[in-house]
Amino acid sequence: MPDAPLPLRAHNVLCLHGFRGEGYSEAFIEHMREVRDRLEDDPAREILLRAAPDTLCEACPHLADGGCTLGGRGHEAQVRAQDVEVLRRLGCEEGEIRSWGAVTRRIAAAVRGSDLQGLCGTCPWLSLGWCAEGIDALAARRAEQA
Ligand code: SF4
Repeated sequence: MPDAPLPLRAHNVLCLHGFRGEGYSEAFIEHMREVRDRLEDDPAREILLRAAPDTLCEACPHLADGGCTLGGRGHEAQVRAQDVEVLRRLGCEEGEIRSWGAVTRRIAAAVRGSDLQGLCGTCPWLSLGWCAEGIDALAARRAEQA
């Protein structure tokens, strides 16, 4: 039986391209690495796009009362708004199921590293530049393959 679609909140499809082995806890890092590696190995893997906590959040110490508390209580609403904006940029809808390969093609076509300043708000990882570099590298790889 095929695996059920992997739930990912929309902005996390961007985060996965900037992951360099750092994160909010050892368990979170381990899970993020496992998910990233699994998706890289299997671009056909189906993703369920969400604007709500996902498989990565489940391992995050900042998940509480069903939402993200990274920026304090009520932060979940801000993160959901970020997810909705990423969905809009990718031309996708909440609840859509797409392959990881299809999602990355959309990212490469619609998002540039310089867009993250506007998309990622107050994310503590933004200033490192890793995510912007990852997104731009993805676009460059796609351009080479075209
Ligand atoms: S800056 Fe933050 S929210 Fe934006 S892609 Fe990176 S980790 Fe994700």
